[in-house]
Amino acid sequence: MPGIFLEPDDLCVYVTEACNSNCVMCPMSLASRRRGLTMAPEQWSALKEIDPQAVFHITITGGEPFLDARNTLAALALIRERFPEAEVLILTNGRALAVPEIASVLLPLLTERVCLAIPIHAPSAELHDRITQTPHSFAQAIRGIRALAPSPARIEARVVAHRWNLEQLSPTFRMLTDLQTRITVVNLIAMEMTGCAAARRGELWVDYREAVREAREGILYTVRHGIDVGLYNFPLCSVPRELWPIVKNSISPRKIRYDDACENCAEREACGGMFYSTRELGLFRVEPIEARR
Ligand code: SF4
Repeated sequence: MPGIFLEPDDLCVYVTEACNSNCVMCPMSLASRRRGLTMAPEQWSALKEIDPQAVFHITITGGEPFLDARNTLAALALIRERFPEAEVLILTNGRALAVPEIASVLLPLLTERVCLAIPIHAPSAELHDRITQTPHSFAQAIRGIRALAPSPARIEARVVAHRWNLEQLSPTFRMLTDLQTRITVVNLIAMEMTGCAAARRGELWVDYREAVREAREGILYTVRHGIDVGLYNFPLCSVPRELWPIVKNSISPRKIRYDDACENCAEREACGGMFYSTRELGLFRVEPIEARR
């Protein structure tokens, strides 16, 4: 349910269940997006009560938070004033940033402590729009990324790997690298198998190892061109050792699970594990790593 949630490592502003895209691998259920509950006006005022000393990281998320642009932009103004030291992550499909009326208010609020994470699913409008099930979403998201370029904010492109875009993972990294606009980081994301993703797992699931293998060439191309790359939500045993330095332990602690066999793994402490849902569905076969002699 939308609202403001203060956890030890994050203040989460969950603006709305609603979204103007309809991605096939969305971790939210179709029912919740259709219901589209949105934070009530009185819920926003909680931001004024929270002790800034207790907050180091803020996540603004949805659905699509800019569907309630008025309150989201007002919250960003308040966050800039009350939480100037906090890192702020805004999860958005980026399409609203192509709207000049929104971009013109947003840009002056952005600092280098803000990161906007925007999913780009493919190197072409045809496939991206098929995955979002939303015409023009690719063109709008790319325009949104370009609109952010003059700001000091960090710009993150997220490529979520699944069966539909498997063969286009490397071309997507290449396209983003060659886009000739400012992108700070491109992250390859392993799907969270809940909501729509779980419902369509038969057509979407791809083994993590296969996804990394397909993306490897594009990852190396992006790194060679001076853009940071991260691998999010991938267990270490799904990634070749050469790419371990870019693996992030990105699954939130309450969702992390390990297999029983992980007890025999030499990298158990370093590994960020897998999503609860991936384990429940029995989708990933772990391969415990032997200690190096
Ligand atoms: S065997 Fe388990 S702990 Fe080891 S790398 Fe794989 S998922 Fe992580």
